[in-house]
Amino acid sequence: MKRCQNCVLPETFPGIHFDEKGVCNYCRAFNNNGKQKMQSNKERYRMHFDELCAKLIPAHNYDCIAAYSGGKDSTFTLKILVEQYKLRLLAVTVDNGFLSPHALKNIDLVSEALNIDRITVKPQFDLLREIFVAGSKNDLFPPKTLERASTICTSCMGIVKAIVLKTALKLRIPFIAYGWSPGQAPLSASIFHNNPSMIQQMQKAIQTPVRSLIGPQLDHVFLGEKDFAADYLWPYNIHPLAFLDYDEEKIVRIISEMGWNPPSDTDANSTNCLLNSYANVVHKKRHHFNPYAFEMANLVRQSYCTRAEALEKLERPESPVVIQAVKNKLYNNRDKDLPAEEE
Ligand SMILES: [Zn+2]
Repeated sequence: MKRCQNCVLPETFPGIHFDEKGVCNYCRAFNNNGKQKMQSNKERYRMHFDELCAKLIPAHNYDCIAAYSGGKDSTFTLKILVEQYKLRLLAVTVDNGFLSPHALKNIDLVSEALNIDRITVKPQFDLLREIFVAGSKNDLFPPKTLERASTICTSCMGIVKAIVLKTALKLRIPFIAYGWSPGQAPLSASIFHNNPSMIQQMQKAIQTPVRSLIGPQLDHVFLGEKDFAADYLWPYNIHPLAFLDYDEEKIVRIISEMGWNPPSDTDANSTNCLLNSYANVVHKKRHHFNPYAFEMANLVRQSYCTRAEALEKLERPESPVVIQAVKNKLYNNRDKDLPAEEE
């Protein structure tokens, strides 16, 4: 398969074209506007976040709610917010039924090491399963979403974001933190003040297809009309890894000191979310590119990893043991429901 000579985006990626040197249009746009400005922009975002932190009101119970999956990036984000920024943190883990035992252990060890409060929310599994099974057969969301994540991941993340935002609003928490890598989400969105009209639009893109699958049964996790009209303190979304230093090896070394264990490539719990492996397989079969290609290409462009390292990650096959375990739980004696390509 033809790939960009500079990053790792393949010829199957939506909207891609290559110049005579085999470099893609995404790389050319980045080289033209992005590269030089990046460092000074990062500094600007760091200062902005410092200013917002300085304005925090001590009366609030928590300064920040953080979505916590147990992965290395969200673990490191938690540590920085607690130790460097001195924020009082509430970590929220949304259990989609596929969190690996390995991740759950890391989540516990890290929460205890950082002395933070943590809650786990586990939405009704039969409803999640309906959505994930539908996502394994068809795309459910606007085509643009497929460039950054699989349909299954987008459905799950939509629910996670709704739960975290709703909790932040009810508890009047001024910051919502995500551990996105600098490749997953742009610097320009790393400090974002939520506003009701934008949230309403974004929520609709997820909630409408979900409703068409399972009716109103998951409506309680999303914001309702009353919420959009309420006199809330609308929180800021932040993903600090976009404007702080990002070094994967260093991150793993630092968080290991809290007891966090890197996943092993050879066991069945090689990822935090086992469903993610299956979501990747489905996406690659349907769209002929890895749903992580966009993130890895961004990391290569920003020199956070080499092209060879990114390619190795993108081409590493998913564990057949994990895939089978996910299928068993998703289809649960309902082989007739298996997508055609999986039979
Ligand atoms: Zn490229």
